[in-house]
Amino acid sequence: MRIWLLDILACPICKYYPLDLEILNWETDDKLFSRVGSAFKGRELSVLEENSILTLPNGKKDKCVKIVEDGRIQIEDEFSREKKPLPDYLRILEEKAKSTQTISDLTESSATKLLEQVKLKATDRIGKTLKQFDVAKGKISTDQEKKTLEDILPEIYLLNWYFFLTEVDEALINCEKCQRWYPVIETIPHMLPDDLRNSDEDIAFLKKWSPKIPEKVLNEGKPFNVKTQKPEKRKAKPR
Ligand SMILES: [Zn+2]
Repeated sequence: MRIWLLDILACPICKYYPLDLEILNWETDDKLFSRVGSAFKGRELSVLEENSILTLPNGKKDKCVKIVEDGRIQIEDEFSREKKPLPDYLRILEEKAKSTQTISDLTESSATKLLEQVKLKATDRIGKTLKQFDVAKGKISTDQEKKTLEDILPEIYLLNWYFFLTEVDEALINCEKCQRWYPVIETIPHMLPDDLRNSDEDIAFLKKWSPKIPEKVLNEGKPFNVKTQKPEKRKAKPR
C-alpha cells in the first residue's frame, strides 16, 4: 500500500475520514529509508532526486516541472496534479505534510525516524516558507521564487517519495469514530464491511502482530478482537 491511498480511504462502515494508519512492516527496504533520511537531513539533493518522483514507475519523467509563466513559477507533480503557482503548490504540500499526523510507524526502523522528520522538520520548513509568501503579499520577484523553490526542493522530493514510492507491507488502518480496524496484508488494504470479513484471518493477523498492536485495538477493536473469539458462536461460513 502506498501512503497516498490514505488520502482517499474512508471507513466503509461509518464513512469517517481521515483514517489512522499504523505501520507494522514495510515492503520498502529499511536501507533505503536510512539513505533517504540522511540525505534529507544533510539536504543532499542528488540522492533525493535519484529516489524521487523522477523515477516514478509509470515512466513519467516530466513530473515536478518548473515552468515560468508571466514571471511566476508553476509546479506540477503528483500532489498538485496540474500546474500551480509556487505558493498554491506549497499550500497543498503543507496539507500533505500535516496529513502524516494520522500515521504512526511502529516498526522502530529507519522509516520511523524518517516519518518523524516529515512530521516535524518538513512540515515546519514548508510552513515557514509559506509565511514568507504571506508577508511579501505577492510582491516577490521571479528570482526570489527560484531561490525559495531551491531551498524547499528537499521537502518536495522527500514528500513525493514518501507518498508515492514507498510501499507498506503490513499495517492497521483504524477508524477513530466507530473503532473499527482494517488490516493491510501483503501490501493490500482489506477495507471490507463486517459481514464480508473473515474473523479467523483477522484474529490471526492481530495475534501475529500483537506485541506492536495497541491494546485498545487488540482488546476492544471492532468487529473482531482477541477477546471476541468464541468458536461456538461463530457461524460456519463457506470459504
Ligand atoms: Zn468507522
